[in-house]
Amino acid sequence: MHTPLCRHATGEPGDYARRALEVGLTEIGFSDHSPMRQDGFDDWRMRFDQLDEYVESVRKAQKDFPQLTIRLALEVDYLPGQEDWIRALAARHPWDYFIGSVHYVSDNWAVDNPSKLSEWTHRDAFEVWSVYFDRLTRAAETGFFETIGHADLPKKFGHRPTHDCTPLYEQFLTAAMKHDCAIELNTAGLRKDCREIYPSREILQLAFQKGVPITFGSDAHAPEEVGMNFAEAIQLAREVGFKECCRFAARKRDRTRL
Ligand SMILES: [Zn+2]
Ligand SMILES: [Zn+2]
Repeated sequence: MHTPLCRHATGEPGDYARRALEVGLTEIGFSDHSPMRQDGFDDWRMRFDQLDEYVESVRKAQKDFPQLTIRLALEVDYLPGQEDWIRALAARHPWDYFIGSVHYVSDNWAVDNPSKLSEWTHRDAFEVWSVYFDRLTRAAETGFFETIGHADLPKKFGHRPTHDCTPLYEQFLTAAMKHDCAIELNTAGLRKDCREIYPSREILQLAFQKGVPITFGSDAHAPEEVGMNFAEAIQLAREVGFKECCRFAARKRDRTRL
C-alpha cells in the first residue's frame, strides 16, 4: 500500500488502516515506492529526504491502530547497477520486508507509466517481456527482496506478446525459488486495462510447481482499494493448488494456511 508521499496516491496511512479494519483484514503493510539515488529520476516517488517522514507516518498508524498489525516496508525499484543504493536503503530502517519491483526496462521507460503509453507503439511486446523478465530474474537473484511485485506488469495496458513466454517465466521462477523469494498476487491488475490479477494463472501454476511461495497485495493507492478483490485472488491461488501463503516481519517469512 502506498502513501501520498509518492505523489500519485491519496489518503493518509490511518485512512488505509481504518479501511483495512472495515473489510476485515488483520494485517496490512505499507510499501511505498522507494526513493532513487537521484531525486529527479522521475516524478512518482518520495524524495530521499522524505524517507524518515514516511517511516514516521507508518509508525503513527501503528500507534493509532493497535488492533491491526501494520508492517513497514518499501516497494523498491530494481534497476541493474542500483545494488549499493538498495543495500543503503535496507540499512536505514528496521523494515519488515522489501518488495522488489521492476517498472523500468530502460532508464527512461517505466512500462506501466500512463504518460509514456505511446512508447508501446514502437516497441515489440516480446522484446519488452524479455528485458522485463531478465531484470526480474536479476532482482530475485540479488537476495534483497522477500517478495517480487506484480510479476507480469507489462500486460497492464493489454499489450501481450504472441511468442511463448514460458522460458522467461521459468527462468525467473527458478531464481525466485533458489533465492527464497516469494511472489505476490496483486489485485491491482483487475483495475487496469488487462483486467487480470498480476501474475497470470500460467505464471502462478509454474510458481506452484516450483515451490515458490505467494503473498497477497492490493497495491492500494487509495484507502478504498485496500484488500480489494482479495476473495478472487485467494480463489485463484487455491485453484492453482496453493495451500499456504506467507507474510513477513523483520525480514523473516512466516507461513499461514490459506
Ligand atoms: Zn504507484
Ligand atoms: Zn509497482
